[in-house]
Formats: sequence, structure tokens, C-alpha cells
Amino acid sequence: MPEGDTIFRAARTLDQALGGQAVTRFESVFPHLTRIDDTTPIRGRLVDRVEARGKHLLMWFSGDLVLRTHMRMHGSWHIYRPGERWFRPHHEMRILVETPPFHAVAFNVPVAEFIAAGALPRVEVLRDLGPDPLSSSFSAGEAIDRIAARGGMEIADALLDQSAIAGIGNVYKSEVLFAGRVNPFTRVEQLAREDVERLVGHAVRLMRANVGAASAGGIVTYAGLRRTTGRMDPGARLWVYQRVGKPCRRCGTPISRQKQGPHARSTYWCPRCQPARGTGPGDDAADA
Ligand SMILES: [Zn+2]
Repeated sequence: MPEGDTIFRAARTLDQALGGQAVTRFESVFPHLTRIDDTTPIRGRLVDRVEARGKHLLMWFSGDLVLRTHMRMHGSWHIYRPGERWFRPHHEMRILVETPPFHAVAFNVPVAEFIAAGALPRVEVLRDLGPDPLSSSFSAGEAIDRIAARGGMEIADALLDQSAIAGIGNVYKSEVLFAGRVNPFTRVEQLAREDVERLVGHAVRLMRANVGAASAGGIVTYAGLRRTTGRMDPGARLWVYQRVGKPCRRCGTPISRQKQGPHARSTYWCPRCQPARGTGPGDDAADA
């Protein structure tokens, strides 16, 4: 599932490719989008900018119209040069925004809506977002407060709560807890404020490290990005995520996995580096 850093990079690339360009063609399989396009055409508008907020991607068009998309599990935005072959089948296309230099294609994106810019502050999922570590206005203190306010939650679930801190998904959840040596099943109220502070610090560091600096050079289309995945594969660099049974990179103990939280998301941790405090399943669930 794309997390905040993926959406941030996608937004930055879309912004560089489409920003300031006039839309020459708009298409979508979603009737609630094409209805808007019929009455107030997207074609002819400028793409003002594209930005990420947590895991939401906002494409701003001139005329105060915003396209909000959310990738959930399988959605993605690609950009292509005109005429370049798409890397996904046409039937997975949900939205197409064409400009003279680049075409942006949203594949399998399940959530998409047009919002009048003025109504944006009232959109609940955006309004309720916690501080975003990738935003220039990020406040660590506020993120720590919001997490600390969720005393009854297990810390892994609190980190996934987009209204506590935005952008963290299942991968970063496990990685951040490992980096901070905190057991995922610890209730927030059992943690000292400095523990939460440390975790937020790791979240910021890990997520920012994965968005890097904006490329100074030209735009890389999806085909170009794809060629680099071999050496940029994050799988080789992860500490615990999807490494169940493999030796901890720090101490050699086999990594544990257990479903956790209301959505039964997999949590990975090292039972030795991240021992349980007090009661909880974390200490004896190594083979769950
Ligand atoms: Zn370990």
C-alpha cells in the first residue's frame, strides 16, 4: 500500500510534469467525475499544482477545482510522454489527464472526487488529518500530543491513525517501532512521552529520507522510474517488514509477525529488541 512518502513523490513528479500546463483532454470511468467535466469542462483549465496531504493527492485546476484521489491498496498515478506505452492495461485506467508534454494516468484508484477549492477545508478526511512529517508546516509537538491522547490504543494502531499523524502506513509502522525499540502492542498510556517523541523522530527521519531532494534534472516517466527499481528496492533495506522468521538485522532473533488492530494489519517486530512491557500479546506471540 502506498504510504505518505510514495504519495509525496508522486505528487512532486506530477507537479513538475503537469504544473502550469493546460489540459488538452480529460477522461474518467467515474460518472461522478465525468458529470462535473460535462458541466464545467476540465479541458482548457491549467493544472495549477499537485500536492500530497498525508496519503491524499490533490490536483489543483484553474477555476478553483481540486481533484482528490486516494490510492488505498492498489492505486497509482503514472506519467507518460505522449505516445509512450502504458505499463498497465487500459481497463485499469480510472482517470486520464492529458497536457501537451505529459499524460497523467491514474490506475485502479478507488477514491476520486472533484471538490470546489473553497469547500476543501470542510472535507472531513482532509480536515481531520494529523501533522504530516513530509509537510513544511509539520509540528512534531502536535503529532506527539495527538498520539499521546490515544492512551488506550496500542502504539502500532496509533501510528496508523491518520488523524494522529498523517502518512504512516503498515510498512513505516513496523519500521518506526523497530527503530525506536518499542513493542507494537504497548498501549500508548504505558509509554513515556520521550518514547513517543523518539518514535515521531524516527517517523520523520525515515519518511524524509525516502522522498529525497527534488530531482534537479528532467522528468522521469513511469518507464524511466521502473528501470531504477532494481537498485532502489526498499525491500533490501527494511529492518522487519515482511521479514517474518528471518534473523533480526540487529540481534539475529527471528522476526515475529501478528495481525493487529481493527483492520488486522500485519505487524512485524523483533521480540528481543522490542520486548513487551507489562501484559500484552507481544512477548509470547512469536509464532502467531
Ligand atoms: Zn533484534
